[in-house]
Amino acid sequence: MNKESSSTQVAVVGGGPGGYAAAFRAADMGMTVALIDVEVNPGGICLYRGCIPSKALLHAAYVLNESRHAANWGITFAPPKIDIDKLRAWKDGVVRKHTGGLGQLAKSRSVRYIQGYASLTDARTLRIEKNGGEPERLSCEHIILATGSRPATLPGFPKDSKRIWDSTSALELPSVPKTMLVVGGGYIGLELGTVYAALGSEVSVVEMMPGLLPGVDRDLVTPLAKRLEKTFRAIMLNTKVAAVKEENNGLRVKFEGEAAPAEERVYEAILVSVGRKPNSAIPGLDKTRVEIDARGFIKVDGQRRTAEPTIFTIGDVAGEPMLAHKASHEGFVAVEAIAGHKAVFEPQAIPAVVFTDPEIAWCGLTETQAEKENRTIKTVRYPWAASGRATTIDRNDGVTKLLIDPATERILGVGITGVNAGEMISEGVLAVEMAAKAADLKLTIHPHPTLSETVMEAAEVFFGQSTHLYRPKKK
Ligand code: NAD
Repeated sequence: MNKESSSTQVAVVGGGPGGYAAAFRAADMGMTVALIDVEVNPGGICLYRGCIPSKALLHAAYVLNESRHAANWGITFAPPKIDIDKLRAWKDGVVRKHTGGLGQLAKSRSVRYIQGYASLTDARTLRIEKNGGEPERLSCEHIILATGSRPATLPGFPKDSKRIWDSTSALELPSVPKTMLVVGGGYIGLELGTVYAALGSEVSVVEMMPGLLPGVDRDLVTPLAKRLEKTFRAIMLNTKVAAVKEENNGLRVKFEGEAAPAEERVYEAILVSVGRKPNSAIPGLDKTRVEIDARGFIKVDGQRRTAEPTIFTIGDVAGEPMLAHKASHEGFVAVEAIAGHKAVFEPQAIPAVVFTDPEIAWCGLTETQAEKENRTIKTVRYPWAASGRATTIDRNDGVTKLLIDPATERILGVGITGVNAGEMISEGVLAVEMAAKAADLKLTIHPHPTLSETVMEAAEVFFGQSTHLYRPKKK
């Protein structure tokens, strides 16, 4: 056999925010590291076809919406002209800049980046197929699997139709369809629905559950749902797609359920955003002791070690929540465990952000979860109607809430809906992680006028002392 062969202390399979963060940390800690991915540079789904391109497009959507909104303040712009090719090129440039930057960062750290497809030969050996040339045999002391996830599909939809999109195809921005149906009112459906609606598509959403963003506290979703009712053509809850047929002028859809229109409707494009599936079908994994659960996630312990001692798994393929920042932090734990440290992944709060307009962000305990677990909590809310800063940007459609343990007065969870909620939630994460009490947030001087003051004032509400919100005392 004349296969190229080499060795490394740590091999990371998958170059997303889990994989590259783990690889860089391992290199920073002095290990020899190989990072393998099929793309030209590290970045993974998040950079190439997820978080980053979607946020670039959401920024464009925000500017478009604000230009229309400005009419409220006496500023009127001519209707925007959208050069879709230039917008696409700008978005691609954002992706290139950051994936290229990661390639440079790998080089500077002497992380060996291998562009190729990895499979396992055994618990310590990878076989890497490259574009041309012999496959490489890579001996590893440890392997970290960070292979991510892929969009779930629905049966019964026409196969190979260019009009049926998943998040990847929608982010390529092939066109701005006149009419678009979003199947699934979760993170992806609402974020990309927001983008296409701002670009001029007439967007309808069909969601099988009774509300948008199932699982998220209802009071956080309400301000967003109210706004989307105005920007989307229809939001059909408790409803599903019964049949889809491709015709010359579009996709003919029959609905079933509570909000199903009596007649069939035709859409130029359908975005299917009904969740994601873990990429655990890694060839050769069956030659190891690694175990996979019923939902397809690779089973791991607190250090992200699998049942095979040399193999660790992080990110989407290791379980929910499927979020980039959770993957990176699991990566750090796995690397520290490999180095022999006593690290364990046990965060008190993993923030989640839906980058719609308004944004929704939360961390730690949610009311939904507290109810399920029958936990006694005190919830306090500060409506953004009482925030001076929110009024200056003409966006009082927000709420900041704290979930507090009534016995210890500890902050257990934070939820925020409003412009910039995604930036603001980090204060909540810090509060939960540091076991802050309501008094800590109340006594922390926040700058005025800012949206972040709403966190402080929510804590004041807990003590019945919010400066800008008067609640009559209960007799
Ligand atoms: P999701 O789980 O957020 O939402 C899927 C939605 O589809 C749910 O509301 C579900 O009830 C609905 N659904 C499922 N089957 C359906 C059907 N047949 N008909 C109608 N509705 C149906 O999934 P997603 O939006 O595809 O996103 C996948 C994952 O990607 C998320 O869970 C999240 O972890 C991650 N993500 C995160 C962000 C972010 O952090 N901002 C953005 C995008 C994606």
